[in-house]
Amino acid sequence: MILGHTKQQAMFKRLATTGRLSHAYIFSGIDGIGKRTFAMELARGLLCSDGKFFEPCDCPMCKLVLRDQQESDTRRVEREADKKGENKGKKLRFCPDLYLLDEPDDLRIESIRDIIGDLSVSSYGNDWRVVVLDNAHDMGVEAANAFLKTLEEPSGETLFMLVSSQPDRLLPTIRSRCLNLDFEPLDKNTLLMVLRKVKINVNEVLLDYAGGSVSRIQLLRQLDFTGLKASIDTNSIEGLAKSIFSADSLDKLADVLAVLLPCYMSRYKSTLDVRYVSLVSYLETMVQTLKTNVNLNLASLGIFTKIAETLK
Ligand SMILES: [Zn+2]
Repeated sequence: MILGHTKQQAMFKRLATTGRLSHAYIFSGIDGIGKRTFAMELARGLLCSDGKFFEPCDCPMCKLVLRDQQESDTRRVEREADKKGENKGKKLRFCPDLYLLDEPDDLRIESIRDIIGDLSVSSYGNDWRVVVLDNAHDMGVEAANAFLKTLEEPSGETLFMLVSSQPDRLLPTIRSRCLNLDFEPLDKNTLLMVLRKVKINVNEVLLDYAGGSVSRIQLLRQLDFTGLKASIDTNSIEGLAKSIFSADSLDKLADVLAVLLPCYMSRYKSTLDVRYVSLVSYLETMVQTLKTNVNLNLASLGIFTKIAETLK
């Protein structure tokens, strides 16, 4: 069962059941909205002996795929512990006809060649074979070129799904051979349902700042979002300093900024105090600046000083 993305579910069910699926898709959209889960569910539907898409099924193929999905986390840990051993770079194979490549090692040329080799032998179940490449943008140029050949000459009923939050980083030659499908962030209700399913408790305010993404919720929780929000609401300089200076990487500082910016934006809207215009504009510039390789301490200090001056 997939929560959200109902249009895509209906569309793919229609395409698959009428035999009009293309052989390669890029699923793009921000992290944490279920693109990979969607790809794996579509894969299960294609391999299902009863042809059931996006609905529960207990045919032998679906059982095999689901059992392997539950075990995959354990195997991931084993693989992690055996980096130098024979498991290095081994792709996760869910059932003989479904591959998930989702670790940097999986996206190396050796693994891609392995898969291409496997695809040349006939399938185990129905005719379909499915390959899901998560974070496909992490593929190096060599691996991408090897993969490109398979995309140009797909063998039999093979479906490739490239999952990516940064599709611009894929080679243009790969992009031009895939159909792109953009996934929207989850709406608030769906996000809440997903979080309940994975047993994550959140308060309402956190949901407002999550931008429809489960990963964003996890980041905000690491950040002590509630503390930061309270510091902003009460103009606590000490609290703000603590949040800003405890960010120990540019990514974490960007997360702090992602909370500060909308808060001060709404402060401006409610007070119409012009000091906040200058602050918001500064913070917007910093969002861009943090994407370049700036000095973390200087960036933190800049943000803190600007806020402190505004609140004086
Ligand atoms: Zn089934």
